[in-house]
Amino acid sequence: MLKIQHWFEFFAKNSCLHILHGLKKPHPQREQAICKAFWANWQKLHPDHGVFKEAAEGTLCLDRAIPILLHGDEGRGRKHGAHFVMSFHSIFGKGFANQKKTCKVWAKMQNNFAGHTYSNRFMLVSLRKRDYTDMNSDTWPSLMTAVAEDGGFMWKTGVANTQGVRYWGIVVAMTGDWPFLHKSGSFTRSFNTIQKRLRINRAPAGICHLCRSGQPDVPFEQLETRRPSWIPTQFTQDPFAEPSPFTEHLLHEEGKEAAFWTYDWFHTMHLGVIRNFVGSAIAMLTELEPYGNKDERFSAFTRKYRSWCHTHSRRAYCTKITKESIGWEVNSKFPSAQWHKGGLSTVMMEYIESVFRSQTFPDDELLTMTAEACFAVQDLSRILYRSPMWLNPELCKLCSELGFKFLRRYGQLATCSKRMGRCLFVLQPKVHLLQHFMVDLHAAHQKNVMGLNCLATSCQPSEDFIGRPSRLARRVTAQAPVLHRIMDRYLQSAYAHFIRLRYLVRTGG
Ligand SMILES: [Zn+2]
Repeated sequence: MLKIQHWFEFFAKNSCLHILHGLKKPHPQREQAICKAFWANWQKLHPDHGVFKEAAEGTLCLDRAIPILLHGDEGRGRKHGAHFVMSFHSIFGKGFANQKKTCKVWAKMQNNFAGHTYSNRFMLVSLRKRDYTDMNSDTWPSLMTAVAEDGGFMWKTGVANTQGVRYWGIVVAMTGDWPFLHKSGSFTRSFNTIQKRLRINRAPAGICHLCRSGQPDVPFEQLETRRPSWIPTQFTQDPFAEPSPFTEHLLHEEGKEAAFWTYDWFHTMHLGVIRNFVGSAIAMLTELEPYGNKDERFSAFTRKYRSWCHTHSRRAYCTKITKESIGWEVNSKFPSAQWHKGGLSTVMMEYIESVFRSQTFPDDELLTMTAEACFAVQDLSRILYRSPMWLNPELCKLCSELGFKFLRRYGQLATCSKRMGRCLFVLQPKVHLLQHFMVDLHAAHQKNVMGLNCLATSCQPSEDFIGRPSRLARRVTAQAPVLHRIMDRYLQSAYAHFIRLRYLVRTGG
């Protein structure tokens, strides 16, 4: 395990704390302005967060308290075994890779997407599945405690640079896919505690660690309102199966401990809601093809998709879209994209949008609503991927309106399909997470404060990061001490990126 403390000491000693501020070069005044501006916005959203009490008592200084995020996930290691990687990164970054670099704001706060992940994600832990399961199952809770204590040290003590100036790291959130949030938080309520049968023996526990959604009196499927009945149930019921070391050691908002585990936009959308939506949209679009045979209709759809990708210089990500690609072997199954490539969801949505922009279907209620849902969610996505870390109240309003519109249409599509006896637009728990994002943005607008971009805490780049050490694990032979060698190889690689970016300068040529 590498500690956050050691990373910070390394940055401080080598004058590259600016990496954690999203800057290209060191600039202490600007770095402090960035942290100060961040906490001013954060305070309006979370006035009772422990960091403000500590700042008032003089434990730490907000101008030099860097907000950081933890991320954990399982990648594929040697012999296809799972390989767990945990890392941390700053919330500040260099924006998005394809964004024009026009931000001239002094206290600029950009999302942490651009750049090689070895230069903006920092490994803490790398383990093979067998290192923390079965005989070694004690490792997992010890590991979580060790990471939490490390985070605790970072806000209590922090590290000093060569001039004796102290910096603190404030872990503001745990990020990852839903299974990881569930596991790292030891929650009693999560996606896998959903009610699946019509008749139930025991009341369902609910699906969400933040609210009581999915319990008998609180449906998670109320998509057609911006005031679903779960809103007042947020933080009213403890979701922890056992006390969490993260709650014990890290700063949080009193009474809202569960909020530390934040949902991720990438998993919610690209690998969730959008896959469900795209599945149904593709199913309906293939039905417009003039062939009697289902496979032929999918071939015709694929030809159009691939030719569109070619003319619009998009990577197609697949050679063939089949009924199996959307899990629609029979019409009595709900279609949903089966792929695990977020990129394919993105390009497919662009294609579907272009179809709906060039063609209307006034006689088809389902297709008309699908088009409206598509436009709303595409507009929302474009705004988020072009915006900085904070959205002003007007933009929060616009984004939440677009998200609510998508949810409304999705709910109507589900109802309408059911009425028509068609299995389309499946309702899965992830749609609830999208509603959480939108309710939060709407609340920021109503309070007239800056709202946090849904992408500020996104795992999208971290997914690339965990893939890398996992691939390293595949290449390193199984002889002991294998974990040390994976870590060594990772550090050598990260070092090369630090040199390339001139974060580190080697003396003597
Ligand atoms: Zn919820």
